Amino acid sequence: MDNRQRINELTDRLIYLAKKYYNDDAPEVEDFEYDAMMQELKALERENPELARNDSPTRRIIGAVLEGFEPVTHEFPMESLQDVFSIDEIREFDERIRRDTGRSFYTAEPKIDGLSVCLEYENGVFVRGATRGDGRVGENVTENLKTIFDIPMKVDTEYERLIIRGEVYMPQEVFEKLNAERERDGQPLFANPRNAAAGSLRQLDSAVCARRRLSIFCFNLQNAAELGFRSHSESLKYLKSIGCKVIEPYISADNIEAVVEYINALGERRGELSFGIDGAVVKADMLDDRTELGSTAKAPKWAVAYKYPPEERPTKLLDIVVKVGRTGVLTPNAVLEPVRLSGTTVSRATLHNRDFIRQKDIRVGDIVRVRKAGEIIPEIVAVDFSKRPPDAQPWQMPAVCPVCGAPVREDPEEAALRCTGAECPAQLSRNMIHFASRDAMDIEGLGPALVEAMTAKGLIRSPADLYYLHAEDVAELDKMGEKSAGNLLAAIEKSKSRPLSRLLCAFGIRHVGQRTAQILAKAFGTLDALLAAAVEEIAAVENIGEITAVSIREWLDDPQARHIIRRLREAGVNTEEPREEARGDIFAGKKFVLTGTLERYTRAEAGALIEKNGGTVSGSVSGKTDYVLAGSEAGSKLQKAEQLGVRIISEEEFEEMLA
Ligand code: NAD
Repeated sequence: MDNRQRINELTDRLIYLAKKYYNDDAPEVEDFEYDAMMQELKALERENPELARNDSPTRRIIGAVLEGFEPVTHEFPMESLQDVFSIDEIREFDERIRRDTGRSFYTAEPKIDGLSVCLEYENGVFVRGATRGDGRVGENVTENLKTIFDIPMKVDTEYERLIIRGEVYMPQEVFEKLNAERERDGQPLFANPRNAAAGSLRQLDSAVCARRRLSIFCFNLQNAAELGFRSHSESLKYLKSIGCKVIEPYISADNIEAVVEYINALGERRGELSFGIDGAVVKADMLDDRTELGSTAKAPKWAVAYKYPPEERPTKLLDIVVKVGRTGVLTPNAVLEPVRLSGTTVSRATLHNRDFIRQKDIRVGDIVRVRKAGEIIPEIVAVDFSKRPPDAQPWQMPAVCPVCGAPVREDPEEAALRCTGAECPAQLSRNMIHFASRDAMDIEGLGPALVEAMTAKGLIRSPADLYYLHAEDVAELDKMGEKSAGNLLAAIEKSKSRPLSRLLCAFGIRHVGQRTAQILAKAFGTLDALLAAAVEEIAAVENIGEITAVSIREWLDDPQARHIIRRLREAGVNTEEPREEARGDIFAGKKFVLTGTLERYTRAEAGALIEKNGGTVSGSVSGKTDYVLAGSEAGSKLQKAEQLGVRIISEEEFEEMLA
């Protein structure tokens, strides 16, 4: 990839991520990943200024005004900050400031992890407040700001107008409580206090914001110079004297070494603070120096934000517990002696998988270093081998599923261990959705929401239970009623006669998709024949590999699977494959491409019909394609076929050809 492509790629990705972060308050990646991409883009743009795009996130602040909020144009732009990641860069900043101004007066403050707001006071009365938005225009959130106890509605001031910039944040304690409540109620968790604060302040209903107990730190008097203040620290003192909650702890210093000391000391303490910080901000203190230094398009040249590396702490690993996910994958989790980390109490950490534990040689009883980089789930970075108890044993994954007791199998492709239980409660919803899907038993109307509702009510504990449902129970489910329940039961009844190939696919056996299920059904004809076949016989079928054969045999031998099969049979579900009609050759040598949504067939069914009649199906249109079978909402493949002059046929024409 050349520089232009990489710059374009990074620009697009960062704009997308920034929109997710600022507009939706829902970040998709960790901050340090975002920062790393941003650093790469900055470096590339520095080396190739002609390739930098005008909409680059290095040049502008991204942030939209949400619908429902009135836009507010800021009298003073609400700028961002330049980031630095090392103390050397702090010293370079100092050199620059001394070179350009001839002096070194600084303030250093914590960089609060919240969202920036601007508060306007007229004759001492709070009249308006807004978010940063894109730095020029933000959202009017006055009513929500009025719910924040720490923002005085009235201050005793001699100045006609005060424009104060501050950071609204959610105290750690409130954040932890809020997430615990959300977890209990099954709501998505906030990734960090910043997102929780932003999501709360940007609520159209002020009552929600009021409940979230936000707080604020004021860190700048925007019109300080106009009001005659000489330094930033002087204006902070003034704000404090009139009752504003000013950022703390901050220092004023006349040399950079004092600032470096402050940064290090704050870094040490940051886990103990009652609010989240992600860095320290160093600012030139004299206001006329600021004017002289000016700003870039996005950030002032008189300040830098030092970003701390993710915080790490040692603690004891008390136990390793194994959870089973919806896909059956077993995930080990660490149970830790509770430790304060980035302002929250941590007692769990992910251990990813068995290989992770082996590579790091993690054992129960070890003292481990735990890291939290803004994300919810902390991780173990390393073991302190010098503190290992003499009797600590290497840890083993369980051989059976901790939820249902079925054997656990290795999945070499994913370096994961999986539960093989056909009735494992941990995997029930996912298995059910697959069982009912269009390529499997094709039960119309039985989608994810209904499956979730039925499993939650305990109506189904395994796919076989579907065939024993009572209409009255189904009708009682939310949004169902008698008619829908009747339709669902009819669809379930209809599925009883599906061919064996669909049933085999519906079982969700590892490595057995639709195609393999068809091959097996054709080769064995009945489920009984397959049940009686040894691994070697299964592996001897053309296109069935050894791994697949073992996986099938193990599944069939599992008592849970036997139980499902017995109950399906008792309910009258078909377990045979109809004999195939003679092979035709009407499509001999013809190449088909399928596109769009077909009404009468699934793609797989249409493909099987084509193949049965001597044709082949390919994924992309080329000059060699003979026919494009197009359903509704067909997209680029259809266009390409038109361009190349390939014959396009509808489902009706396809059926006519078959007839
Ligand atoms: P920034 O948040 O790094 O710095 C500027 C902001 O710092 C100001 O707007 C102000 O609100 C705040 N601030 C807090 N305390 C302050 C103080 N004492 N003095 C001055 N300002 C103070 O810059 P940004 O451009 O707003 O955002 C970049 C940050 O957002 C990075 O940390 C980045 O990782 C994160 N981000 C993450 C994602 C993601 O997808 N994870 C996406 C976009 C941005």
